[in-house]
Amino acid sequence: MTPDSSDFPETAPPASDPARTATERAALSVLQTVFGYPAFRDAQAAVIEQVCGDGDALVLMPTGGGKSLCYQVPAIVRHRADRGVAIVVSPLIALMHDQVGALEEAGVHAACLNSSLSAEEAQRIEREMMGGRLVLLYAAPERITTPRFLAQLDSLDERGLLSLFAIDEAHCVSQWGHDFREDYLSLNVLHERYPGVPRIALTATADELTRADIIERLQLQDARIFISSFDRPNIRYAIVEKDNARGQLLRFISDEHEGDAGIVYCQSRKKVDETAAWLVSEGISALPYHAGLDADVRRHHQDRFLREDGLVMVATIAFGMGIDKPDVRFVAHLDLPKNIESYYQETGRAGRDGLPADAWMTYGLADVVNQRRMIDESPAGEDFKRGQVGKLEALLALAEAHDCRRIRLLTYFGEVQDTTDGAQARYRCGNCDNCIHPPATWNATEAARKALSCIYRFHQNGGQRFGAGHLIDVLRGKVTDKVTQHSHATLSTFGIGADVTEAQWRAVLRQLIALGHLRTEGEYHTLELTDSARSVLRGEVQLLLRESIPTAASAKRGRFGARSTPAKDKAPPVPLDDEATERFASLKAWRAEVAREHNLPAYVVFQDRTLAEMARTQPHSLDDLAQISGVGAKKLEAYGTEILRVLAL
Ligand code: ADP
Ligand code: ZN
Repeated sequence: MTPDSSDFPETAPPASDPARTATERAALSVLQTVFGYPAFRDAQAAVIEQVCGDGDALVLMPTGGGKSLCYQVPAIVRHRADRGVAIVVSPLIALMHDQVGALEEAGVHAACLNSSLSAEEAQRIEREMMGGRLVLLYAAPERITTPRFLAQLDSLDERGLLSLFAIDEAHCVSQWGHDFREDYLSLNVLHERYPGVPRIALTATADELTRADIIERLQLQDARIFISSFDRPNIRYAIVEKDNARGQLLRFISDEHEGDAGIVYCQSRKKVDETAAWLVSEGISALPYHAGLDADVRRHHQDRFLREDGLVMVATIAFGMGIDKPDVRFVAHLDLPKNIESYYQETGRAGRDGLPADAWMTYGLADVVNQRRMIDESPAGEDFKRGQVGKLEALLALAEAHDCRRIRLLTYFGEVQDTTDGAQARYRCGNCDNCIHPPATWNATEAARKALSCIYRFHQNGGQRFGAGHLIDVLRGKVTDKVTQHSHATLSTFGIGADVTEAQWRAVLRQLIALGHLRTEGEYHTLELTDSARSVLRGEVQLLLRESIPTAASAKRGRFGARSTPAKDKAPPVPLDDEATERFASLKAWRAEVAREHNLPAYVVFQDRTLAEMARTQPHSLDDLAQISGVGAKKLEAYGTEILRVLAL
């Protein structure tokens, strides 16, 4: 694992290289002429070879890894060899339109069949499909498995015009994932009915259970499995302690992401609504998204997020699957996600274009208490609960980590070996908060014992239970009304932890709850010892914690009320001089017009990265323009002259 080397190479040998197989040459030529990219990324070439050679494939790649090309390129290669139409199974009708639009922009004949089409449109598309003229057809699983559609597929198959099946978001077939879709279960009919047609299943969900489920349910036992590195080197991970979360979020956005598109995840619908409204009141363009909103409102908000520049979507986990907007510059979590899998999938929505992006989370004691309680109170069986608790502990360990977050994540996904000599702990990625500002650590073993024995004293002294706030007051020797009322100043533990700051105490309690030595009870989250607390009291458990750094938000709190700077225009993705920056702005204005005319998101026309490269190199001829990554033949023909004109202004 080399966190900094997973980018694709700058140059590739020409597609005509005689050392390549005919399929490789055809695939590379499609990549270069249709999509305008110079070379395949890591597993892409091998996946394409497999599918073009009639084999099945299961592709596990992180979000943004480049899964779409893994089936789009074979679909084009096979179509050119008179193999007909590729059927793409996609769970979200709402997003098919943009995917098809992007293909058509690149000159690839594609369409989607869904319930939003008029009867005439649907008929026209069906004619294109049945005539084998379409290269790719996108449809939802519930349509594909209808008798009528299967009869159409039969006809295509009989004429050898069924080129491949691509099953996107394949984890939807698994009950283990949170995106389970009943309709996906019926997809095994494709294998039974069309055993000769290659299938490619794709997902960004990496864990073993889900993988095994996909293989079994989709009958992919003979498929080659391609597992890419799950590292996302362009994403910077940072996790901060909660201290006025809203203020922290606002500062994060206004200091580092003004005018950028981003997603803010919250746990509840109510919090989504409130946070979105509050961000708007602070001058940030934000929209809410959750399952409680009207379907029309949801679609409208999603559409705006995809089409407009620099919108912030405040959302529950209902938002995200299939959103392939490449220029999401940050994903922020105001609440702790369920587990590392969810965290990684959600944060993975940032920076698909490979440019720098942030994954930022703020979390605190209340988050730990809530998550733990949700598990304890759920009606699930004990085994399942134990599994959930294990996953929560892993996530908390990530949050409290004082070493490299990326290494922790990759170790969790089994990509980095967890060595006994701790070699992986010494590795630093250089692009997470802990690598950039290594936090000091302190040995909290003694403090943990003090906290637990203080709770024990409460219990002995009248049997009552108390919450974290009061416990910390007693440990720090603070005389409050409550301390007086319960005569807690007389306890032997009163004031024994005055040398430990309040923030440190909170960190200790978070750990103790996360590790299961403490439990919280009832409405007031009172603290109670568990059986395993004894091992801590006996000094058998060592606790090494990160030193909490007073967050900048608390240091500078109050400054937001006076915030009045208007949102500045989004900076270009690569450093540009003044003149190039102007050219970049003109190109963006031109792109916005084209996108509006075609009713497509701007990035479907050209991505920021491609425009920036045009602005930087300022090509003077169509040949020069064609050299830029992201400029394929069709786009060159459609827009080349216009772009040269804009650049010459
Ligand atoms: P995924 O579906 O795995 O999340 P996408 O297929 O949306 O990822 O690809 C992510 C981004 O990377 C897209 O903007 C895509 O155009 C780009 N991309 C994919 N493969 C390549 C490549 N070989 N060279 C350059 N860009 C690529
Ligand atoms: Zn790191």
